[in-house]
Amino acid sequence: MSRDSTFVRSWIEAFFDRVEENQKYLTKLDSAIGDGDHGQNMVRGLRAAVQSLNDSDTRETLRNVAMSIISKTGGASGPLYGTLFMEAGKTAPDGPIALSDWAAMMRAGLDGVQRRGKAETGEKTMVDALTPAVEALESAVEQDASWSDALSDAAAAAKDGMESTTPMIATKGRASYLGDRSAGHQDPGATSSFYLFAAAVDANET
Ligand code: ADP
Ligand code: MG
Ligand code: MG
Repeated sequence: MSRDSTFVRSWIEAFFDRVEENQKYLTKLDSAIGDGDHGQNMVRGLRAAVQSLNDSDTRETLRNVAMSIISKTGGASGPLYGTLFMEAGKTAPDGPIALSDWAAMMRAGLDGVQRRGKAETGEKTMVDALTPAVEALESAVEQDASWSDALSDAAAAAKDGMESTTPMIATKGRASYLGDRSAGHQDPGATSSFYLFAAAVDANET
């Protein structure tokens, strides 16, 4: 059982849909500990990403998505998500995508985010949602789980990771300017990263 570039396109569309539905919520979260533009930034970038979709293979599709996001998403999240998709694309196979390929692609995306943003877990960023999600995918691969189980485990792990950011004190990004006052608010980037993994579940069900 494998997936292909059609799945990848559905994933990007579903990510856009989730972000667009929650644009106000993302903005509200970013207003509390940042500058209130995360919803708008993500919608702008992902709208361009969806417009870039065509019948290219997975590698080219993700490259186009990355370039669209880098050029259209403002703020810290643009280069970070751009890098995630760029690295995932470089790691994607030429043909069908096995679950192990998908896990490797998401790991490469996370590594790219961390190279670029220098954040570790516990710093109240998207890395706190992405890391447990990638780990869940990797353990699903080890256990020879189905796509459906792997993707829902990863989304559940991303959700827990997102929620775990609430008590954290931000030490990276704009929220770090608030110091201790950043505690008690869920991180907007970790929230959009949960949508990224939830979108894979959506794409798998369509
Ligand atoms: P900006 O802060 O420039 O306005 P956004 O509001 O679009 O950009 O995105 C903010 C999100 O970016 C944060 O909630 C956080 O998750 C993420 N972020 C910021 N800096 C970093 C970093 N160094 N590493 C990982 N993620 C980061
Ligand atoms: Mg912001
Ligand atoms: Mg900003």
